[in-house]
Amino acid sequence: MIRYKDRKSTKLIILHDSHTLPEVCNIEDVPRWAVLAHKQGLKMGLLSIGYHYIIERDGTEVECRPVDQIGSHTPGLNLESVSICLVGGREEIGGIGVDNFTRDQRIKALGRCHQLLQKYPGAKVVGHSEVQRYRRRDTPPCPPIDMDLFREDLKLYAQGIVL
Ligand SMILES: [Zn+2]
Repeated sequence: MIRYKDRKSTKLIILHDSHTLPEVCNIEDVPRWAVLAHKQGLKMGLLSIGYHYIIERDGTEVECRPVDQIGSHTPGLNLESVSICLVGGREEIGGIGVDNFTRDQRIKALGRCHQLLQKYPGAKVVGHSEVQRYRRRDTPPCPPIDMDLFREDLKLYAQGIVL
């Protein structure tokens, strides 16, 4: 197994989506995403999955890159961030981003973000498109999620409020 370097600091927890249709359910399609998902000039990990966590349509979480190692998902910010990729986000190939994530995925993402905030106090939870310097205006957001609402939900989750 390839060993990547350990991260020295973790300031961001970055959410992504796989830009795939709802019928693409799980991680088996991930090597393909590495090439296709961000083909607008972003370089993803090609030797192994660059995300730390992938959350499949049924809410199953797959740990990919070990969490303390440097990921490959957000050029310029990989040295200081952990990544979570939700499977979904499109209703048609090449179409606009759609928040079509399942409730199970959302709950799992909130749980993982909550755990990571305990592990990395002071880190911020952000969407890829909120922080990527090279994003293009005509590129659909990654992930197509209302991140302000997600962060509000995260506060409620931390208080034990069931969403
Ligand atoms: Zn992304």
